Amino acid sequence: MGVPHARIHNFGAGPAVLPLSVVEEVQAALPNLNGSGFGLIEISHRSGAYQEVVDSAMDRIRRVLSVPEDYTILFLQGGASTQFYMTALNLLKPGEAADFLVTGGWSQKALKEAKRIGDAEAIWDDSQNGMRSVPSDSDYAVRADSVYLHYTSNNTLMGTQYPDLPDSQGKPRVLDASSDIAGVPLDVAAHDVIYAGAQKNLGPSGVTLVILSPWALARSQENSDAGRLPTMLDYTVHASKGSLFNTPNTFGIFVLDCVFKWIEENGGLAGSVARNRAKAGLLYAELDRSDFWVPHAEVGARSLMNITWRCADESHEAIFLAESAAAGLGGLKGHRSVGGIRASLYNGCPIESVEALVEFMRDFADRHS
Ligand SMILES: *Cc1c(COP(=O)(O)O)cnc(C)c1O
Repeated sequence: MGVPHARIHNFGAGPAVLPLSVVEEVQAALPNLNGSGFGLIEISHRSGAYQEVVDSAMDRIRRVLSVPEDYTILFLQGGASTQFYMTALNLLKPGEAADFLVTGGWSQKALKEAKRIGDAEAIWDDSQNGMRSVPSDSDYAVRADSVYLHYTSNNTLMGTQYPDLPDSQGKPRVLDASSDIAGVPLDVAAHDVIYAGAQKNLGPSGVTLVILSPWALARSQENSDAGRLPTMLDYTVHASKGSLFNTPNTFGIFVLDCVFKWIEENGGLAGSVARNRAKAGLLYAELDRSDFWVPHAEVGARSLMNITWRCADESHEAIFLAESAAAGLGGLKGHRSVGGIRASLYNGCPIESVEALVEFMRDFADRHS
């Protein structure tokens, strides 16, 4: 083994940096969870000490995200990618339709899986434009017979994000919020399903947060009663057992609880949003300062969470990635669908990391101009 590295400034897209205090809290729980005598990854999910963790995590999520009392919170496995199929399976009945706003690779995948279930269609698709934007409300028409509208609030690969809640024209909204949940304002009550893999803004991989309205749960119940849902893909089953139908990701749920505690102790959702706006503001100011950089997203669709750009002279990109890594700035390589550079500034990324990145970028642009 080589010499261990100090913790770097981590801009990776996920699994992503968590607050150091959270990582240390997790470390402390590994040999002994909350004084129970059982280690965090050695305790039964049916034990009282562990039930406290699940209850605490659900309560904190309800408070931080203002989840209405009659909504259900689930901790599932299989990632957001399983939800692409599971949402459609639970919400649609045979022959029914659902509409999708396609703004990136993840919404394309969500659409592909929903097509296996019903009449799923893209009513807006930014592929021709290189996925640089998100639609305005007047850009699309939800089909009259569509059961719901699915959208992806933040496009992790492309670096775009909806500035406001998209109009669903009276239909229920289904949202993939994997890469901006608890990082930007979110009106939970305006949605019927929200799902998010935890590994970007909330914790480790292997646990997926799902929030269901009473309407969504009733739809699932009808499909469940009709025998159409495999047990593990049945929201009704998981909801009736408080997410403990089978063994959940006990470790991941504990980390979620720690992250939401950290959010609560640091100004709640409003605190997260303010920090994320400040961080993104610093980086966009540098991208706009110099023609050396070419931001990918259109200005009105810029993401606060994943910021994507190219160098005007693309031959500078490989040098940038090598030199930034050597300077202790990690995880900056852009996704292959966009290329170039991407900085992910999720909740766990401290402003000091963004300051260090911007300083490095100024110096790099000066040296190579
Ligand atoms: C990362 C990501 C996914 C995929 O999540 P998995 O948990 O790996 O399945 C889906 N949607 C969005 C928006 C993402 O950022």
